[in-house]
Amino acid sequence: MTSTIDPSSIGKPPPKRGRRHVRTLTGYTPETDEQGKEKWLRGDETVWRSSIPPLHKDVPAITKSVVNHVHTSLARQAYNLDDLGAYQAAALSVRDDLILNWNDTQLHYSRTGPKRAYYLSLEFLMGRTLDNALLNLGLKEQYSDGINKLGFNLEDLLEQERDAGLGNGGLGRLAACYLDSSASQELPVWGYGLRYKYGIFKQLIGPDGSQLEAPDPWLEHDNPWELPRLDVTYEVRFYGHAERLDNMKALWSGGQEVLAMAYDVMIPGYDTKSTNNLRLWESKPKRGFDLQSFNAGDYERAVESSNSAAAITSVLYPNDHTTFGKELRLKQQYFWTAASLADIVRRFKNLDKPLTEFPDYVAIQLNDTHPTLAIPELMRILVDEEDLSWDTAWQIVTNTFFFTNHTVLPEALEKWPVPLMENLLPRHMQIIFDINMIFLQAVEKMFPGDREKLARMSLIEEGFPQNIRMANLACIGSRKVNGVAELHSELVRITIMKDFVDFYGVSKFSNVTNGITPRRWLDQCNPGLSSLISETLGIPKATFLKDLYKLEGLLKFVDDPVFEKKWAVVKQSNKERLANYVENILGVRINTNAMFDVQIKRLHEYKRQTLNIMGVIHRYLTLKAMTPEERKKVNPKVVFFAGKAAPGYYIAKLTIRLIINAARILNADPETKDLLSLYFLPDYSVSLAEVLIPASDISQHISTAGTEASGTSNMKFCLNGGLLLGTVDGANIEIAEEVGENNVFFFGHLTPAVEDLRYQHMYHPVPIEEKCPALANVLNEISAGRFGDGGVYEPLLNTIRQTDYYLLTEDFDSYIAALKMVDEAYQDRVEWIKKSIRTTAKMGKFSSDRAIQDYAQEYWNIESTKIN
Ligand SMILES: *Cc1c(COP(=O)(O)O)cnc(C)c1O
Repeated sequence: MTSTIDPSSIGKPPPKRGRRHVRTLTGYTPETDEQGKEKWLRGDETVWRSSIPPLHKDVPAITKSVVNHVHTSLARQAYNLDDLGAYQAAALSVRDDLILNWNDTQLHYSRTGPKRAYYLSLEFLMGRTLDNALLNLGLKEQYSDGINKLGFNLEDLLEQERDAGLGNGGLGRLAACYLDSSASQELPVWGYGLRYKYGIFKQLIGPDGSQLEAPDPWLEHDNPWELPRLDVTYEVRFYGHAERLDNMKALWSGGQEVLAMAYDVMIPGYDTKSTNNLRLWESKPKRGFDLQSFNAGDYERAVESSNSAAAITSVLYPNDHTTFGKELRLKQQYFWTAASLADIVRRFKNLDKPLTEFPDYVAIQLNDTHPTLAIPELMRILVDEEDLSWDTAWQIVTNTFFFTNHTVLPEALEKWPVPLMENLLPRHMQIIFDINMIFLQAVEKMFPGDREKLARMSLIEEGFPQNIRMANLACIGSRKVNGVAELHSELVRITIMKDFVDFYGVSKFSNVTNGITPRRWLDQCNPGLSSLISETLGIPKATFLKDLYKLEGLLKFVDDPVFEKKWAVVKQSNKERLANYVENILGVRINTNAMFDVQIKRLHEYKRQTLNIMGVIHRYLTLKAMTPEERKKVNPKVVFFAGKAAPGYYIAKLTIRLIINAARILNADPETKDLLSLYFLPDYSVSLAEVLIPASDISQHISTAGTEASGTSNMKFCLNGGLLLGTVDGANIEIAEEVGENNVFFFGHLTPAVEDLRYQHMYHPVPIEEKCPALANVLNEISAGRFGDGGVYEPLLNTIRQTDYYLLTEDFDSYIAALKMVDEAYQDRVEWIKKSIRTTAKMGKFSSDRAIQDYAQEYWNIESTKIN
């Protein structure tokens, strides 16, 4: 569908927005000429929209604009500026460009009315913005020069920015990559999320080696990248009473109302004017405070309601792949989905189309089950407020939503107690019951008498209390359901969604393999490699940064010794950069001639950092048992870990403690420290990933088969020429398909074996000494206190000795064998470099541009629109 400007809209005042009356500034009217080309009047000046010059195209204009912001926006003096001030001024100057592009993009969308897609995600792990904005605007060199002219250094200024840590891990980073790809491909896609006052906690390490958590006050220094929208607010109701009326309608009233206010974050596309929007909601009290209590002298009570309203968006829940059933979390979910839907429906209504055409103009992607309440909320709006029949409303809903599943781990499947939902959202509970009743009648019709199937498919899980199964609701309320890698999508079809596949047919269930943006994860984090690729292929960076399949051209150079040499030099300089970083934060100098082995991701038993640390200790014990002569033949290795554990996740926190205390012993052992050292880098973040990933020789993605839905850091490492050591799981499989199995190091049992093995462990346990003597020996050394008080680690060790749910004893021997193959392969440095080049060359598929194209074409049915 292509849209043109509706001529009758030209010259009319824009529609009323919310409850406010908006007008056009006199003399500032957008107009269209006879050929339908838009022009733009700015006061007396008439300029073609496409000819509005970028604000800062040359260095003098840049320095002028930066100094101007120093004097006006910051109210500081040019003779008295630090790096932070200079960063703020530079950011505000870059922001001016973004705002103009953003304005033109949004104006174009509202005047042409294309179908739009909305990405609802409770997490957006954006990282830093300035560097990315400069890259996407094509202004990096100019700003670098301009900042230099002012006596500052752009690299130093970039370091001043705080990460926007509004996410836990992969799910939130995926959302961020998808926004970059949508804008870069000129697709009308907005993100909707929450503006947490505190993002993911800051991780500190205590004296005994355990993780401590501190708040992340990321907004402390003001955030130049967001625009507060005082005029975009919605009221959101909680609690109260829902009275059923005729025709399946109801009246929901009473309770508590809070205000959602929008903050807009500009999302610039790469090498295009297209600049999309990420709208984040902040909660506020509807009325400042209770004046009556205040007048009666009860100040505390007066601010109570304002505090409880503000609490809704105060913190990001720090759990990844687990659910906690806290009322405040459910409040967050509803607050966010209600505000977002109100905003989406209002925007649709500006088009003056009948509501039945809603799915022709709106597609909504649910990133995991967190926004599932959007389904009953849209039903509520359509049935209760817009007076549509239930069936018409359901037709609209099930053609609007799309659901991405992110996990098949049972502990991660969201469930909410019915009594909690009934109290907080009484009308939504009724709607969920009604959806369920109608749905189960249809199931019963197709599978008469199959009571067990009905029980499995019901939205309500029986028990005390009953629970609502959010994945089931997301599935039946959506047009399509997808997993995030081939294996995972298959597991979704044959495990948690099996009955739904029988009922709907398999075509509702498909796959979109995750991707990463090559702008941040190649050019920005590894400019040296990006330049080398551009120079070697003889094409501008933009060519492969927009079409990552172009990297395949590198295959021609795999056997070119000069190119191999240059490739190795880039890797080496990235290892030096990491070594400098480590020296800054830990005060130690690491050996950059060693192999760098990296595992960075959230701490979780299924990701098996424990397997890795057991492997490290095994290596240490092996080295200790060698003669000095034997040790001479060993290649030095440095092992890096980084990652946060959920504050309440006891076993994961013990793993961190073990890593840190093992590091203290290993790094101090004069016999072995030059051959094996170990670092846990605290406070993993996007910015830390950007330093670590380009420096890695080998990275580990070693989840128990069938547990990692996709993984995306595996893609980041491979794009940067790091080889992969992993299990046959998630996207590792597709990476191997692309780069060839001889370029990855696979080990461990396969997914189909896992269930059987767990059964064996449960019902026919074999003592660990028999099953895996090498691992038993490692556990005994830890117990014996070789890495500090052994007793501390017993609960962690017992997870392995007893149920061993994640199958460490099953995979340990093949893991050690794979590590040995890595060592042997690394001895032949030339062949290693060839593998590294081949790996990068075949990463085209894993660009998030490809993933977003899949969604745009197969799911959302939206098209690119060029912004002039
Ligand atoms: C990419 C990324 C992740 C996801 O890592 P996985 O290894 O795929 O779990 C998590 N956190 C950050 C900061 C990332 O950049």
